[in-house]
Amino acid sequence: MSQFGPDYVRAIAPYQAGKPIAEVAREFGLDEASIVKLASNENPFGVPESSKRAMAEAAAELGRYPDANGFELKAALSRRYDVPADWITLGNGSNDILEIAAHAFVQKGESVVFSEYSFAVYALATQGVGGRGIVVPARDYGHDLDAMLAAIAPDTKLVYIANPNNPTGTFIPAATIEAFLAKVPANVVVVLDEAYNEYLKPEDQFESAQWVRKYPNLIVSRTFSKAYGLAGLRVGFAIAQPVVTDLMNRIRQPFNVNSLAQAAAIAALNDKEFLAKGAKNNFEGYAQLTAAFDELGLEYVPSHGNFVLVRVGQDDGAGARVNLALLKQGVIVRPVGAYGLPQWLRISIGLPEENAVFVEALKKALA
Ligand SMILES: *Cc1c(COP(=O)(O)O)cnc(C)c1O
Repeated sequence: MSQFGPDYVRAIAPYQAGKPIAEVAREFGLDEASIVKLASNENPFGVPESSKRAMAEAAAELGRYPDANGFELKAALSRRYDVPADWITLGNGSNDILEIAAHAFVQKGESVVFSEYSFAVYALATQGVGGRGIVVPARDYGHDLDAMLAAIAPDTKLVYIANPNNPTGTFIPAATIEAFLAKVPANVVVVLDEAYNEYLKPEDQFESAQWVRKYPNLIVSRTFSKAYGLAGLRVGFAIAQPVVTDLMNRIRQPFNVNSLAQAAAIAALNDKEFLAKGAKNNFEGYAQLTAAFDELGLEYVPSHGNFVLVRVGQDDGAGARVNLALLKQGVIVRPVGAYGLPQWLRISIGLPEENAVFVEALKKALA
């Protein structure tokens, strides 16, 4: 072990990202064009045309620093969510928001509460500031908010909630979350991470951004990486009252969201057709994948996101084994052994033809 750095940094297990297409092509001797990647919950339609046009225009000004305050993007978000612009913090992806929250609100040795099987970055952000993660056992693969409330310790400064959750796809209805928020001690900041919010069915949607008016300790986090198709650009944002927002802005790097990303995000935010097309594809793709799982007799967790967690075997080698068999056929999905789910794989919902390629490959992998 090296002598450099604090022990809590040396103890961090690095984030495992989905394998890039080029890497799988090299490793397995495959043609890149033939590879199907359903591993990182990206939008299968890619970047919206409206964002491409906005970026082409913004490219002319790349010699200058981006707007450090993201004036226009914040103005657009302020209109969309009906909150003042100074309640918004922009992030280099919402991952940045999660990290900024840990840096702004947690000191070394203090605790952070999050759920078992929730997003890996919560543990990483906690460890990065020398915090102590309190991992609350999941209930039916989702957050057990009663247990999370009970787990809040005197030194707890932050709670992370993913809704819908990644990698399990579970969803907590509005009333349950609000009842939780009403009971959380006022000195504990709650990050409500809604990376998949735009994929919710209309009847499940609710305006969490408006809860921020009522709860000064609430941060609502959103991203342009999933439904908006801008994962490679890295744009996310947080909505919180000015006291919390001001603290986050002290930690935030001044130019954390680049100019192309700001321009593309504004265009995407106004591109209702793109979102609608993505939502329709997602509902249909979910039906396509889960019908195949039913046919194969595979258990899956009902999902509210753009991915499905499926159990591919009853032994702890199953996830890795089936994943390798899929990779050899040029299909990249996400093993979730690192989440404590070694019998499962997480499949992002793709285009109909991509889902079909995956299903055929899965049948061979299981045979
Ligand atoms: C994908 C994801 C994010 C963040 O992605 P960014 O690209 O950093 O915005 C945040 N939370 C959850 C639960 C996610 O799945």
